[in-house]
Amino acid sequence: MMEDIQSVLLDQQQLENIVKELGERITRDYQNKDLLVVGVLKGSFMFIADLMRAIKAPCRVDFMAVSSYNNGSKSSGVVRIIKDLDKPIEGLDVLLVEDILDSGMTLSYLVENLKARRPASVRICTLLDKPERRKMPIQPDYTGAQVPDEFVVGYGLDFAEKYRNLPYVGILKPSVYGG
Ligand code: 5GP
Ligand code: MG
Ligand code: MG
Repeated sequence: MMEDIQSVLLDQQQLENIVKELGERITRDYQNKDLLVVGVLKGSFMFIADLMRAIKAPCRVDFMAVSSYNNGSKSSGVVRIIKDLDKPIEGLDVLLVEDILDSGMTLSYLVENLKARRPASVRICTLLDKPERRKMPIQPDYTGAQVPDEFVVGYGLDFAEKYRNLPYVGILKPSVYGG
């Protein structure tokens, strides 16, 4: 698998530092709140597992799974909920946790969808941000790292469902996806 990676963007130590710092900020910001951490599957599963351990405040966790309707390789902006939250979120302080914020289509849709359920607040925490590619006016409240406009995999992020188990984030060789 390593031979499919062009270069490592964030190694294990860097990821650990990022998660620790995000956890400290979130711990501070959510004192006396009713925090529900919502992971967007599957890409965020590894990040959220580590982030939860770095949050030293009472919190709950739930998950959503979404899929975007694609026309070819372009995202259409229409998001389908494959797995919804288990419980209502009215009155809760929701922190949406994503692997990567790219065009912003997925998170724009999710934020609007969740706000309609009357939570006390909705914020976004993304491990990675590709600001160059943004199409929707959406800003993450917590960002692990900004990344260049390259296709990245590992630490939960996939290409064709593979590479999620890499313990680091790396740039996939374009030859792997025919780029
Ligand atoms: P957006 O709706 O912001 O365009 O897309 C967000 C989703 O696209 C991410 O949650 C992720 O699943 C996928 N995505 C965007 N860029 C990358 C990337 O560089 N690598 C991987 N593995 N997935 C990406
Ligand atoms: Mg995702
Ligand atoms: Mg994916």
